[in-house]
Amino acid sequence: MTTLPDRRLLLVHAHPDDESIGTGSTMAHYAATGAHVTLVTCTLGEEGEIHVPELAQLVAAEADQLGGYRIGELAAACAALGVTDHRFLGGAGRYRDSGMMGLATNEHPRAFWQADLDEAAGHLLEIMREVRPQVMITYDDNGFYGHPDHIQAHRVAMRAVELATAEGIAPAKVYWTAMPRSVLDAGLNAFTEASDNPFAGIDSVDDLPFGTPDPEIAARIDATDQHAAKEAAMRAHATQIPATSWLYSIAGNFGAEFMGVEYFTLAVGDKGPGNGPYGWEDDLFAGLSLDGPDRSPVAAAGLR
Ligand SMILES: [Zn+2]
Repeated sequence: MTTLPDRRLLLVHAHPDDESIGTGSTMAHYAATGAHVTLVTCTLGEEGEIHVPELAQLVAAEADQLGGYRIGELAAACAALGVTDHRFLGGAGRYRDSGMMGLATNEHPRAFWQADLDEAAGHLLEIMREVRPQVMITYDDNGFYGHPDHIQAHRVAMRAVELATAEGIAPAKVYWTAMPRSVLDAGLNAFTEASDNPFAGIDSVDDLPFGTPDPEIAARIDATDQHAAKEAAMRAHATQIPATSWLYSIAGNFGAEFMGVEYFTLAVGDKGPGNGPYGWEDDLFAGLSLDGPDRSPVAAAGLR
């Protein structure tokens, strides 16, 4: 007879690799400190590019085998992060990567962009009923940077919260991934001289599709001690992230902090106690009473 840990965190991401790039340190931090971390990935990432030459023919336009291959990459990434509970929304292959906004792949009958919102949210609701997470992480309404699957992941996750609220089982807090403008500013400056500059052609943070004013950030999760786990998880997604990527040189330029610190805005729930000029929380579970009604009755009854 097993019970789930008292702290339960659910993450809803669009493609394999988003979990590692966007929230890898946070996932590793909570897994390492005994929380139950559930990752839900909405698509297999079939439309991705392939940066491993010998696998190039797996691409969607040729063998169309990339999605299946990425299941293995995601499994390796989760292992690196210490995350054991991973699911695909509706089961592996239910929803297809929609590709970039405006492409014909948006119209594929299985494209996640075409998903029926209530049906897709229903799959997530089933997972919420089982795991009873107190905290959920997904993207903002622009999907952080505008990819249709990220926007759809936001819509599905927030619809699932509505459905869960009606059942009285909604997470107490919902966070959206975010990047403070001050951190982007620092990145812009640090990369000016870099040969592989992700900000090439960008003069100001105002030109980027993301960037949140610092006062609007709710939580700063310092998982600097997990930066190596995050980097290992990113390297597990070798088809997607070239070994020479700026994502790795970022670690060299900023040290472990840039890799290991992640930021969130709070979309649902009450902000807990924080610190610094804007009262940023340092724990996503801050302010929650974990022994109260938030606790999973399933887990409390020792039924699983
Ligand atoms: Zn993605």
